[in-house]
Amino acid sequence: MKLAIVVPCYNEEEMLPQTTSELLRVLEGLQSAKKIEQGIVLYVDDGSHDRTWQLICELASKYTQVKGLKLAHNAGHQQALWAGLEWAAVNADAAISIDADLQDDVNAIVEMVDAWRGGVDIVFGVRKERKTDTLFKRHTAQGFYKLMNALGGEVVYNHADFRLMSRRTLQALVSFPERNLFLRGMVASLGYPTAQVFYDRKERLAGESKYPLSKMLSFALDGITSFSVRPLRYIVMLGMLFILISLAAIIYGVVVYFEGKTIPGWTSLLVSVWFIGGSILMAVGIIGEYIGKIYKEVKRRPRYFIEKEI
Ligand code: UDP
Ligand code: MG
Repeated sequence: MKLAIVVPCYNEEEMLPQTTSELLRVLEGLQSAKKIEQGIVLYVDDGSHDRTWQLICELASKYTQVKGLKLAHNAGHQQALWAGLEWAAVNADAAISIDADLQDDVNAIVEMVDAWRGGVDIVFGVRKERKTDTLFKRHTAQGFYKLMNALGGEVVYNHADFRLMSRRTLQALVSFPERNLFLRGMVASLGYPTAQVFYDRKERLAGESKYPLSKMLSFALDGITSFSVRPLRYIVMLGMLFILISLAAIIYGVVVYFEGKTIPGWTSLLVSVWFIGGSILMAVGIIGEYIGKIYKEVKRRPRYFIEKEI
């Protein structure tokens, strides 16, 4: 059996030598324990501006296990990972995706392979705690997972992109035709047998984070909007709420009017502001419902995957 480790890299020249030796060590361990027949480290250079690609070339000529793909421009972490997984769906029996900075524990790879050999298709790497994160990152990340679940997107709590996927789940994944990628959600929605492996996440060993706040926010927004049309439905509800408030305002306004405690024009203004506001919101929400349907249709996601057949 052939195992590929897919590593997206963006300006990771400082990390690559160490990452390579760690990953090769794990692969050799797996090979000598006869758990896999062949191990590959596939680096996907996501349009780096530093010596990342030269390094990948040097490593590939030194070690036969190392292979590389170079993207022509910086397409983003998720797209780079996708490129690697697409390659793995054809060339390997299973793929593990991991970041180049080795923040995720490479020793968890052994447990993942064990679970896979035991018949599990997808093994999620889940962080035990977030001690190494700043307070800010910890709270924003946890808030994101909660919001995502509340909005109906399937995400595994505290799982990022460190996971093993079997060949058939890779093939299922690459049959998703959409361009907006939120891989952790897409993989969780496949529905094949899954397992979780817990590990401690470390500090980045060298270089700095390639995910500044701006990229993190746009990633979170992408995640929500590519998995949930519920925000659109909430607009309809808000519109209804405003119309209800306008009913209350009508009654209140009329009562105050007949009591003579008001200046001319106030009642009609008060009532129309709430009523018009509510109607507009509801109308926008209803349009949103249709857009949500169109959105799902244009994604043309596969309808189902068959897990077993007898
Ligand atoms: N990465 C990438 N393209 C990008 C940004 C990041 O391929 O545009 C890669 C990066 O090289 C690393 C992984 O994505 O392997 C995760 O990035 P990083 O460790 O900087 O994110 P953090 O751990 O800080 O969230
Ligand atoms: Mg990192």
